Amino acid sequence: MKDSFDRTIDYVRIAVTDRCNLRCFYCMPAEGIPYEPKAHLLSYEEITRLLQVLGNLGFQKVRFTGGEPFLRKDFMKLLENTAGLEDYKSIHITSNGTLLQRHIPKLKELGITQINLSIDSLDRERFHKITRRDDYEKVIQTFHMLMENGFKVKLNAVIMHGINTQDIISLAELAKDHQVDVRFIEEMPFNGGYKENTEMYSAKSILRDLREAYPNLNELQGKHGDTATLYQVPDYKGNIGVIAAFSRTFCNTCNRLRISSKGEIKTCLYDGGVFNIRDYMRSGVSDEELGLKFQELIKLKPKDGFAAEKTHKKTSNVMDSMSVIGG
Ligand code: SAM
Ligand code: SF4
Repeated sequence: MKDSFDRTIDYVRIAVTDRCNLRCFYCMPAEGIPYEPKAHLLSYEEITRLLQVLGNLGFQKVRFTGGEPFLRKDFMKLLENTAGLEDYKSIHITSNGTLLQRHIPKLKELGITQINLSIDSLDRERFHKITRRDDYEKVIQTFHMLMENGFKVKLNAVIMHGINTQDIISLAELAKDHQVDVRFIEEMPFNGGYKENTEMYSAKSILRDLREAYPNLNELQGKHGDTATLYQVPDYKGNIGVIAAFSRTFCNTCNRLRISSKGEIKTCLYDGGVFNIRDYMRSGVSDEELGLKFQELIKLKPKDGFAAEKTHKKTSNVMDSMSVIGG
């Protein structure tokens, strides 16, 4: 499926819930966001149907995110359904790692072994300060368990001025002995209205810090659709990535479509949601009509995140919590 800028769109990111057990301050306020009633969330049957329709349009990769996906009851059932869909060669999950451990055997059994784990600091107190929960030990343990069980893990760390820039190198050092991509992300303005965005720590600043610590850092050739620019330190087992999520330098190869937990379609992270596919589906349309609607929506995908931002009417701060968008 091509958009109007000749980009192949074959990757869908689905937020399976807006709920979360952490309160990362760049994502949502301390008191949380007003959660949607369960009936407003896409059901598993609806998500599976959407995946089937998208699979027929050539989609091959899906990422389940949230909120915290493992907080949703029977999330494993959805994974089981998805693993049974032939079109999806690549099933990924983004998780905060606090509730995942007991599911490791089942994930392995389903062949779902690509997990992005969010961890913004290796210092317990700073982790607590950022997430507003004292779950550092659990998350780092999850990381080691996933590695021991042969999962392909990427770590996500949002880097913020005056908060955790001192963690960049200690986190990057995890790539020394582990085959992991450690990725540093620019903060984006999606925190549910908790705070005005303060000075952003840019991808350039992150890279400068990395180059200072690792003068022989090599840039690696990227894969199509990658948002991270990847680097390698000679002899390190893993890679280090920088994601210019706010500077938006990767839009020309964007291959993704997003679906929020209540079925809002986002053709770009920076648009305000362009169509509610849940309501459309619940009006009784056929699979064919759903497919045609997706084709129409994909053609609306803007050139880049700056163009999308211009169309974004800020009617609610809640839509602007990353916990609703899914990252
Ligand atoms: N709860 C899961 C987690 O934290 O991994 C999945 C959902 S979370 C919204 C997905 C990703 O978005 C996480 O890696 C998180 O760090 C990132 N994220 C959340 N808010 C962000 C923001 N304001 N700017 C940049 N990244 C953000
Ligand atoms: Fe929860 Fe993930 Fe948002 Fe943190 S980033 S509050 S873990 S949804």
